[in-house]
Amino acid sequence: VELVAAQVSHESRIVLEAATERRRREALEELDKAKTIFFSNISHEFRTPLTLILSPLEALLRDTKPLPPEISHQIATTHRNALRLLRLVNNLLDFSQIESGKQKANVEPTDLVTFTRNLAGNFQSLFEKADVKLLVELDQLLPEVMVDRQMWERIVFNLISNAYKYTLQGNVRVCLNRSGDNLVFTVADSGVGIPASEIPKLFDRFYRVQQSDGRSFEGTGIGLSMVKELVALHHGEVAVESEVGKGSSFRVTIPLRKAHSSTLPVELSDI
Ligand code: ADP
Repeated sequence: VELVAAQVSHESRIVLEAATERRRREALEELDKAKTIFFSNISHEFRTPLTLILSPLEALLRDTKPLPPEISHQIATTHRNALRLLRLVNNLLDFSQIESGKQKANVEPTDLVTFTRNLAGNFQSLFEKADVKLLVELDQLLPEVMVDRQMWERIVFNLISNAYKYTLQGNVRVCLNRSGDNLVFTVADSGVGIPASEIPKLFDRFYRVQQSDGRSFEGTGIGLSMVKELVALHHGEVAVESEVGKGSSFRVTIPLRKAHSSTLPVELSDI
């Protein structure tokens, strides 16, 4: 009898432990869901006022009337920092959506040449102020392609802002063209470069390179991991070639899914 009682108590303890473990796991999952929703909501809330700050600043920067140098300098600094904040907020937003596993590429036929030219154009005045040449070379003959525009914006934005940040002189070249059945987007800079030993870890979340000369650049280490995830959601890849002191070239390759003309009337009648 004692043996049976011991056996029963042992089994009921196992059942109890399993139930506790299950409850603990459920509580953690709930907490994780709440965290994701919180991040997502707060990032959305930040984005709207930030966009409203950026638009008038961009209008001021585009204004052809000359402003006193001190004011123009302050506007450029405010613009630069607002862009930084927008990048951070966008990355947090993507981060929480990817974490939740819900992120899917919502692709639509896009004139990527015009879209990319406009995105790169947002950086023109920043580059001019920093005395770095921004060269934009886009293949005009590229057909409309299927991309998630919001994601494409993040990819372009992250790569160009990195090139801007890590290039103290020279130029940044942004290219978009077609190679066989692939779309190829390259951002190449003449900046600080990256040691070969760092390249395998570069796209890891939160990974940042320690500059050998002790120089420090602000950042979070989220940007490139986001680029990698967003490109992967388009079934593509991102690669980098770099040489310390010479510069880096980030190359995004995405299989080209043309916007078939048969889908166009459907898309257009939606408008
Ligand atoms: P962050 O720039 O916020 O640190 P990223 O994920 O965008 O984060 O980049 C990760 C690291 O890769 C950076 O810390 C930097 O060391 C390196 N890196 C990214 N882009 C460049 C570039 N264009 N030139 C040199 N280093 C770069």
